[in-house]
Amino acid sequence: MPIKRTIDSLNVKGKRVLVRCDFNVPAKDGVITDDARIQAALPTIKKLLGDGGRVILCSHFGRPKGGPDPKYTLAPVAVRLSELLGQNVIFAADDNVVGENAKSAAAALTDGSAILLENTRFRPEEEKNGEDFSKELASLADIYVNDAFGAAQRAHSSTAGVTAFVAESALGYLMEKELKFLGSAVEDPVRPFVAILGGAKVSDKIAVIDNLLDKVDSLIIGGGMAYTFIKAQGNGVGKSLLEEDKLDYALEMIKKAGKKLLLPVDTVVAAEFKNEAEHKSVPCDAIPEDWMGVDIGPKTIELFAEAIKSAKTVVWNGPMGVFEMPNFAVGTKAVAQAMAEIDGTTIIGGGDSAAAVNQLGFADKMTHISTGGGASLEFLEGKKLPGVEALDDA
Ligand code: AMP
Repeated sequence: MPIKRTIDSLNVKGKRVLVRCDFNVPAKDGVITDDARIQAALPTIKKLLGDGGRVILCSHFGRPKGGPDPKYTLAPVAVRLSELLGQNVIFAADDNVVGENAKSAAAALTDGSAILLENTRFRPEEEKNGEDFSKELASLADIYVNDAFGAAQRAHSSTAGVTAFVAESALGYLMEKELKFLGSAVEDPVRPFVAILGGAKVSDKIAVIDNLLDKVDSLIIGGGMAYTFIKAQGNGVGKSLLEEDKLDYALEMIKKAGKKLLLPVDTVVAAEFKNEAEHKSVPCDAIPEDWMGVDIGPKTIELFAEAIKSAKTVVWNGPMGVFEMPNFAVGTKAVAQAMAEIDGTTIIGGGDSAAAVNQLGFADKMTHISTGGGASLEFLEGKKLPGVEALDDA
């Protein structure tokens, strides 16, 4: 990936800067329930405002069905953002996103002030990377900055198309930080380098396994996806998650990876899929037929913790069990604990692993928690991110 220009090399004084953020925050009934993504965007916004830029913020929010929908208005984000910045961010309410209201608000900006546009997905062209919408967005600004790592895996008008119609473009600080941590972990890790994969499905992680296997010293696989591997080893897995059509792949991986691959040796099985269900630990070659695997067992925790302890770089994506149910969060918690204790770089891919680390109270013990689930996964797959590729090279 060529090195991209960052906002440090821009001269924004008196210029209009369109900044794509990821304000796709969790919300319930119009109330933001977690403002971490807004907080994460602040360094870039503050820098641009401090340098006298005229800042036009934009983002998608939720999944409106290709048209305006009051349920998905970004208005509450403008309020929270104003509080966090300590200065008013005018919400340019506009069903058309770049309509008369947005244009006049953008024209009225003064140095060091900011507005927020309406949800970019109110325009059906957004997700199709439509040229007309890209041009409309670009017409508001002189410079484009992308700081939306959580949307960087998508080639949409506001993340990619728009760059063709502005004079200059650059990465924001959040995006720069994400690329730095994920990039150096994968391309130039301090060794031993351990990757931990979990979560529900093998099929979601195949490209990651393929890309990481040659690069890591150890690859740990747990969570629901592990049972397909356990079955491929010749064991029964009862009612555990299983992808029959991935058994050949799993077997091939087991052979190819050799000692690099660490799989569970025991597992917690439950009689039903609920927290209060009867449960017990069993070796992986003795999973009872009517039970389902819901977490890694104590011997596996020891095995995984040992591998993590000796690592200097650890990347983790996907929980070790059904962590949403406290009884089956033990393995996920133990992995987080082991990571928290090492003297090295610890990186959490976004999505469920980030949620698990936050929920279990280990967030401040990690070197970096990615703000983008899909984007960090695609990055770990070795794919280029369209939202990064489209920006000016340094
Ligand atoms: P993913 O989105 O693929 O990272 O998967 C995360 C989901 O996998 C979480 O909701 C977990 O509850 C689920 N999960 C992890 N381990 C298991 C398991 N053993 N059985 C069923 N679901 C699991």
